[in-house]
Amino acid sequence: MSMTESFKGVAASAGVAIGIVHIYRTPSHNVTPTIVSDSEREAVRFLKAIEDAVTEIEEIKEKIAADPTIDAEHGKIIEAHRMILKDPAFADSIAEQIRSTSKNAEAVLRDKTDELVAMFETMDDEYMRQRASDIQDISGRVMAKLFGLSYGFNASESTDIILVADDLHPSDTIELDLTRVRGFATDVGGRTSHTAIMARTRGIPAVVGAQALSETAVDGMVAIVDGGSGEVHLNPTSDEISFYEAKARTDADKQRQLHQLLNEPSTTTDGFCVELAANIGVPEDAIAAMENGAEGVGLFRSEFLFMNRHELPSEEEQFEAYRRAVSTMDGRPVIIRTMDIGGDKSLEYLNLPRELNPFLGYRAIRISLDQQSLFQTQVRAILRASHYGKVKIMYPMIATLEEVRQAKAGLEAAQEELQREGIAFDAGLEQGIMIEVPAAAISAEQLAPEVDFFSIGTNDLIQYTMAADRMNEKVSYLYQPYHPAILRLIKMVIDAAHHHGKWAGMCGEMAGDIRIVPILLGLGMDELSMSPSSILEVRELVRNSNQGNLRTLAEELIQQPSSTAVQELLQRYR
Ligand code: PEP
Ligand code: MG
Repeated sequence: MSMTESFKGVAASAGVAIGIVHIYRTPSHNVTPTIVSDSEREAVRFLKAIEDAVTEIEEIKEKIAADPTIDAEHGKIIEAHRMILKDPAFADSIAEQIRSTSKNAEAVLRDKTDELVAMFETMDDEYMRQRASDIQDISGRVMAKLFGLSYGFNASESTDIILVADDLHPSDTIELDLTRVRGFATDVGGRTSHTAIMARTRGIPAVVGAQALSETAVDGMVAIVDGGSGEVHLNPTSDEISFYEAKARTDADKQRQLHQLLNEPSTTTDGFCVELAANIGVPEDAIAAMENGAEGVGLFRSEFLFMNRHELPSEEEQFEAYRRAVSTMDGRPVIIRTMDIGGDKSLEYLNLPRELNPFLGYRAIRISLDQQSLFQTQVRAILRASHYGKVKIMYPMIATLEEVRQAKAGLEAAQEELQREGIAFDAGLEQGIMIEVPAAAISAEQLAPEVDFFSIGTNDLIQYTMAADRMNEKVSYLYQPYHPAILRLIKMVIDAAHHHGKWAGMCGEMAGDIRIVPILLGLGMDELSMSPSSILEVRELVRNSNQGNLRTLAEELIQQPSSTAVQELLQRYR
């Protein structure tokens, strides 16, 4: 009998999940070159692996074709892989080499892959250079067949999957068939890493930063993920399973009870109204937003449309995606943030420079203002979608007044162009900025007259104010949402907005944290945008709160000398 092994990580997305471990990793097989006795048999073994890989690819292709929620671009990539696998110049040349050298198939495949990758990587044409990663992907799939292993996630049979990975990149997470994933657990990452955000958006329990978990876990093991406490248990005993099943039932009861608030107003006992909106990454997330009673979308992270592909999305593609989200929200406001690439979200095809400090570098609005044609395409698509519902546009990572003016001028140019072309859009579209750079928070008074609204991005605002990387566990103790410096910045931003007759919201992860929401209500926040799965819980809290009392409390909290003092005082209030 094997023993239960438990891991403690960061509680990233609440809920309990029990399922079968599937390790997600890009296979890096240990290949040892050997000489085989029967080279013909080895060549046949290789060609069989190719055939199996083709079958697998064809199955994936059919699945993609049948699923309208999957971007057509994925279908094109998979088709390209199928063609390369079927190309005699690839398979036959390797088989021929196995026959002539008597080397094992794995070694010949590896050498050929290295050779092709090196060749593609040195090409002048950007598109051709990108083919290197396709070759690696294809070769990885064939290699997995030779080793008798499954490649990637789609090969798994199980329906109740606990996906375990060292790390999941934003691009990996869009590839995944999430309908079978009951829980996530990764070795690295913090609460505001994009895996954590994605898990919360989809309401999937998740633990991140569980250190050596992926080295201990084995495919097929039973595992429990408790996303509320940050615990992961491998090989649980039957008693543990019963305990967590009971916990999952209690959670489900609570959810049912919260669902009664689906269409209730988010108003405190003394009549203070706050809008509770959802953060989304892809248009389909708007469905979860509606199912959880969102009053709008407070942040559509449009950069996800730019990921996992080989070229920029066209105006038409973007327009379709925005319009889909807008029509799902059925007249409720949708704030589309222009793309925030850079930081931890890179785009190979944009050929961005490698940077020493990506979070302080060429990112978000800085790229948009520098690459006007990219920006124009996006704002045209947003404007066109504005004709189909209530759209607002928001610019990320604003640090200066000039950036705001340049972004607005870009939007105006697109409006004039659309007008000339006779294309409909909402001429009254509101423009707002994210306040996530301390300079913007401090100059909120000067920025407010320029915009219709502010939305505070605390995920970045905290990291920049505290000079503590949001992805780095070593300095996570400095990532302090309760720090009086953060609370004071938030207050400055809200007061500046109100002083100029504008509204202020928050779309960082703090906005959905029920321990912090009382402070935000006390500071007079007009809108809170969060993962759809947090909305009803926050609504319940709002409806049980008195804003007058919270205002007094907030005034006292911002006078505290430290994060600890703020938390202690807050606890006494409860
Ligand atoms: C933020 O910084 O708080 C934010 C909402 O933006 P992102 O997490 O996408 O950087
Ligand atoms: Mg941000």
